[in-house]
Amino acid sequence: MALIVQKYGGTSIGTVERIQQVATKIIKHQQTGDDLVIVVSAMSGETNRLIGLANELNDHPRGRELDVLLSTGEQVTIALLCMAIQQQGAKANSYTGSQVRILTDNTHNKARIMEIDDNKIHSALADGHIVVVAGFQGCDEHGNITTLGRGGSDTTAVALAAALKADECQIYTDVDGVYTTDPRVVPEARRLDQITYEEMLEMASLGAKVLQIRSVEFARNYNVPLRVLSSFKKGGGTLITAEDPKMEKAVISGIAFNRDEAKLTVLGVPDHPGIATKILGPIAKENIEVDMIIQNTGHQGTTDFTFTVHRNDYQAALKILQSTADTLNAREVTGDDKITKVSVIGVGMRSHAGIANTMFETLANENINISMISTSEIKISVVVDEKYLELAVRSLHGAFNLEHE
Ligand code: ADP
Ligand code: ASP
Ligand code: MG
Repeated sequence: MALIVQKYGGTSIGTVERIQQVATKIIKHQQTGDDLVIVVSAMSGETNRLIGLANELNDHPRGRELDVLLSTGEQVTIALLCMAIQQQGAKANSYTGSQVRILTDNTHNKARIMEIDDNKIHSALADGHIVVVAGFQGCDEHGNITTLGRGGSDTTAVALAAALKADECQIYTDVDGVYTTDPRVVPEARRLDQITYEEMLEMASLGAKVLQIRSVEFARNYNVPLRVLSSFKKGGGTLITAEDPKMEKAVISGIAFNRDEAKLTVLGVPDHPGIATKILGPIAKENIEVDMIIQNTGHQGTTDFTFTVHRNDYQAALKILQSTADTLNAREVTGDDKITKVSVIGVGMRSHAGIANTMFETLANENINISMISTSEIKISVVVDEKYLELAVRSLHGAFNLEHE
């Protein structure tokens, strides 16, 4: 007998029929003797619909109220799934985040889980219940409802699996595993049987939204075996685990991309010590996250400085940078919010030279200009014009032979 945590994403429970199908599948599984804790997202489109309503009424909805609103999406699905399970003759109990007591910090809309009380879950399981928990939400120490950021139900599931010491955490979604790249962009993408936490972490943080980054961090930190599977199709999916010395190491395991990037440049800044902090300090103060940073070699006492931010923060960052440029007597500020970042990822890169060159050569052959580059031990990222995104991803997928094992 095993304890399994399963998470069903929005599409998997997007209609009444799908909720019924998930209920049937869960009951069948429970009959094999396993204990099941189920985490659900809101029905597909619901979180976006709620955000839309909020924006119609307020230009900058307060985080606290936004969380009260957004958490309702998951409150609906826990109740509906339990009703479907009960209708089919099994026992189920639903819990919101604050009912379980998933304690988070108080950063509304982006809260982090601090502690999970597993008492109620254990006693409901002992009574033969299927336990259904709302994903994406918790409460702070004062009882305020919080949410965990978009895609946060993945993190609820993995955090629960860690707290309950579950045998496995299974993420059921609309693809049957983690692919070499988003199969919606490259139809030839191949499903991976296994991938390491490290690689999945890079994939997620570089734009592959199949798992929320925080969920992979949790899985790695607590060594939770994590599996991505299809709600609709049979199969073993993709197992995400620690690096195993016996595991065959592909040099490149995947390609990720992020469409939501924008870059800003300040030209002709006086090249003095402290210039980076003078430029980036005011940006950080406004809570704008900076991703890549490049400072050119100084020339005749001045230098150029470029960095990227999330596209949603572009206008705000541009305004701040323009005023910094004025105070610093810089020559000019430019920006571009039509850029994307494409990254190749693989632990095998550690022991292989020449990956960067293959990447640059492939893009050059397609006449795609690279405007920024950043590397780490297991990834290389480039910034390119957004109109070349698909071409870049497809040609790199082919160049690294990712469609074949
Ligand atoms: P859910 O609603 O179940 O949480 P998501 O939409 O968050 O589902 O995540 C699944 C989607 O992630 C897939 O439909 C796919 O388009 C996208 N995706 C992006 N990169 C990858 C990848 N490397 N492998 C698999 N899916 C990916
Ligand atoms: N419903 C939330 C969202 O769309 C959380 C999730 O689906 O994981 O972001
Ligand atoms: Mg998701």
